[in-house]
Amino acid sequence: MTSKTIDIVPEEHTSSMRLPVPIAGAVNFKDGHLWDTRGRPLRDLRISLTDHCNFRCRYCMPKEKFDSRHQYLAHTELLSFEEIKRLVAIFLRFGVKKIRLTGGEPLLRKHVCSLIADIKAMRTTEGKSPDVAMTTNGTLLKRMAHDLKAAGLDRVTVSLDALNEEIFQSINDVGFPAAKVLEAIDAALAAGFPVKVNTVVKRGMNEGEIIPILERFRHTGVIVRFIEYMDAGTANGWRMDDVVPSAELVERVSKVWPIEPLNPNYTGETATRWRYKDGAGEIGFVSSVTQAFCKTCSRVRLSIEGSLVLCLFADRGYDLRTLLRGGATDDEIALAIARIWSARADHYSEIRLSETQKRSHSRIEMQYIGG
Ligand code: SAM
Ligand code: SF4
Ligand code: SF4
Repeated sequence: MTSKTIDIVPEEHTSSMRLPVPIAGAVNFKDGHLWDTRGRPLRDLRISLTDHCNFRCRYCMPKEKFDSRHQYLAHTELLSFEEIKRLVAIFLRFGVKKIRLTGGEPLLRKHVCSLIADIKAMRTTEGKSPDVAMTTNGTLLKRMAHDLKAAGLDRVTVSLDALNEEIFQSINDVGFPAAKVLEAIDAALAAGFPVKVNTVVKRGMNEGEIIPILERFRHTGVIVRFIEYMDAGTANGWRMDDVVPSAELVERVSKVWPIEPLNPNYTGETATRWRYKDGAGEIGFVSSVTQAFCKTCSRVRLSIEGSLVLCLFADRGYDLRTLLRGGATDDEIALAIARIWSARADHYSEIRLSETQKRSHSRIEMQYIGG
């Protein structure tokens, strides 16, 4: 781990710059999955539903960049629910079983419950309903928890970076109270959801909140996951010095409550799992900066306007929307997806330092592809 400071030069905000889909190329499909050039199967699909958000988290959509002059995509540019469902059905054919809805703030997308219900009615290659999860900032969750449950949503992850009101409201930068997010988490639990909490940790921003957050959720069944601050997008002015390595957090937590590592639930899990030795529950650490997990990365991202993005740090995605709207058949779209995944070689987190030193490296902003 180096302490070298690397400044990312903010660039013009780009949506997912669209690459044409390949018209030739090998397909590596075996054992019910597509495999990329590094031997990684395609297993999970993340779908960004909107580029809008009612927060302006300083590390994601800072106010200075996402102000009233910011150009959101026109509604016609977004994939419609019909288009999303058509693609989901194709991904399920390739053995995908887990789908995460994200954004922007996914609960801002109108009629999201009907999309969830329709996806839940589909079948995986094992004949089961796909697992559908959502990452949300929690602002609309309290009032929607019941409907989301009724629609069949399986799990929710709520982002919460601080309990201290001053700190939390300064992070979301719209003055939204942490107390309301806690109410939303309680509503989600009451509706019967398994709940995880995502806490992005940034040096000098919320390190002091780690222990209070854990204290609040010990013995509740809610799994808190600490995420290393990442150089996603180009708007947040990321610097390596702002990253608090998970190893440091593990040490801090252990001093208060001894913890021990657990085995992963499945290959490719983003968080390393730990549990309190006193039986108070589980916590997780997502160490994408200091302990890259590209070797097992089996996620693909569908951007709001229908580009297939192979890595969270990609500068562009493959334009499926033109296929969808240009009369391609499901088989033609499936073949394009198969070729794209089979040629995938991305492993950005393993080469981050050399890449970020190339000051021109551009990336798709987070809200177009979700976290
Ligand atoms: N708006 C929803 C939310 O905040 O939960 C969903 C979208 S948000 C982009 C998904 C996740 O990415 C959130 O948990 C957020 O904290 C995380 N995230 C955003 N920017 C990040 C960054 N620069 N580094 C690490 N995590 C980040
Ligand atoms: Fe919005 Fe989520 Fe980004 Fe915060 S992290 S600005 S809530 S999309
Ligand atoms: Fe996957 Fe890209 Fe993250 Fe590596 S850097 S784990 S390839 S999304």
